[in-house]
Amino acid sequence: MNAQSPDGAPQDERTAELAARLERVHQRIEDASRRAAREKPELIVVTKFHPAEDVRRLYSLGVREVGENRDQEASAKASELVDLEGLSWHFIGQLQSNKARSVVRYASAVHSVDRESIATALSRAVLGERENGGRANLDVLLQVNLDPAAEEQTRRGGALPASLPALADHVASLEGLRLRGLMAVAPLGADPRPAFEWLHRLSGELQSAHPEATLLSAGMSHDLEDAIACGATHLRIGTDVLGPRPPMG
Ligand SMILES: *Cc1c(COP(=O)(O)O)cnc(C)c1O
Repeated sequence: MNAQSPDGAPQDERTAELAARLERVHQRIEDASRRAAREKPELIVVTKFHPAEDVRRLYSLGVREVGENRDQEASAKASELVDLEGLSWHFIGQLQSNKARSVVRYASAVHSVDRESIATALSRAVLGERENGGRANLDVLLQVNLDPAAEEQTRRGGALPASLPALADHVASLEGLRLRGLMAVAPLGADPRPAFEWLHRLSGELQSAHPEATLLSAGMSHDLEDAIACGATHLRIGTDVLGPRPPMG
């Protein structure tokens, strides 16, 4: 029961459960991609609130892209798991400028840049890392608010669609940042399809000014099919792979 695989992951019931859930999610992605006649997007498994040991288990099952939304938790897990070669951390949560230095130490991409001050702080942090022989670049996605009217209640973050062109130009002008695309969360309690269709159009507009910004990070456990139909290149799936998140402790 407590045997370990060569990469140090426990081979236990939890691993078997994760394997089964992961398999079902991959099947849904496969089916939705075929129906939409689109290329299969990348799966980022969102491991927030779940222990580092679960990330190790997922790694043993072939997962190489994981997502986290809080710096304190993510940086602790990333330092515990430095031995997992080729594991990439995606930062998907709301970010404060004073966390930029920490985030660039482990994250290969930040999906949640929604204002110029954060972009500037990330650029400075990457340049600091460069000087210390650390990372040279950071992939950046702009988070879009697809539900501007409800922002006060939902606090899901994101830049207003009208502010994207200026924000994109700012990010593209900063040393150490690579503008790669857009990210969004569908509005709470509404059909995600029109929101994702809007996001897809915004992505096209962004690419006409910044052709390299081709990534579209959209789709969570309950709406991955809609996201795939609307051209998502990266899905962020937590619950349907890991199960319900444990209460915050
Ligand atoms: C938690 C989270 C996810 C994953 O959501 P699930 O519904 O658990 O799949 C995706 N994106 C963001 C920004 C998140 O915070």
